[in-house]
Amino acid sequence: MTKETAVRIANLAGRLSLLDGQSAIDVEHASGGEFGPDPQAVYDRWDEFTAWAATAPRAGAQPFDRAALGSPAPAPRQVFGIGLNYRTHAAESGFAVPDQSPPVFTKFPSCITGPYGEIALPPGGHTDWEVELVAVIGRRAEQVAAADGWAHVAGLAVGQDISERIVQMAGPSAQFSLGKSFPGFGPVGPWLVTVDEFADPGDLELGCSINGELMQKARTGELIFGVPLLVARLSAVLPLLPGDLIFTGTPAGVGLGRSPQRWLAAGDELHSYIEGIGELRHRFVSPG
Ligand code: ZN
Repeated sequence: MTKETAVRIANLAGRLSLLDGQSAIDVEHASGGEFGPDPQAVYDRWDEFTAWAATAPRAGAQPFDRAALGSPAPAPRQVFGIGLNYRTHAAESGFAVPDQSPPVFTKFPSCITGPYGEIALPPGGHTDWEVELVAVIGRRAEQVAAADGWAHVAGLAVGQDISERIVQMAGPSAQFSLGKSFPGFGPVGPWLVTVDEFADPGDLELGCSINGELMQKARTGELIFGVPLLVARLSAVLPLLPGDLIFTGTPAGVGLGRSPQRWLAAGDELHSYIEGIGELRHRFVSPG
């Protein structure tokens, strides 16, 4: 359950905004310039910002157009992708379940896009879907224990780790980062829900469908490495910076694991959701 006073942090037409039900508050205006309009910059002042947002004036709230929403973290410095983090997906992919640490790759930040719109299919590709919980870092994390993991997370969003499987699997060793970084391959949204809004941020239903046909449905409680453990494993190696994204991995039901295999086609509509957060809608189009 989310609180009645739930406030979502959003990128509305490129400007940092608070969403309150059906209306939006422009943060730069409402704060008298105390906080700027850049949605990405706010994570560097996360504690100050959330303290202000809790009592922000609601007077200037305006109705908003959902189509104008962008990623709540549109230009992260680092984007972590986690592989094989659900037993069901490891099994359908033909891999052993990781024990000490999951596979980690990057989605290059230029692939990050918003919650709605069109995504171009790479010509000749095998483009696949992967619904994922995305955690956004709110406090610099270095050598963080799993018990302190959630305290370094600003909030959660819905993500899709769109993947072109031919590039991903090409060559003598796999090319996960390239195959998952075509333009538009990192949708995130529709807004950020702060961790304290969830009764249990570690167990949320997520899923996706294509043209209304359910493809994936699971719970984040099934993650082998949950968000706090991912913060610990990653921050043991390198610092996690405010505004960084962690795509936490996908459950079973991707096109690669189907028999016969299935790929996204021009005209397909992909609908992705996570309980307590919201939904994404994208239409795939032929390369222009
Ligand atoms: Zn993935």
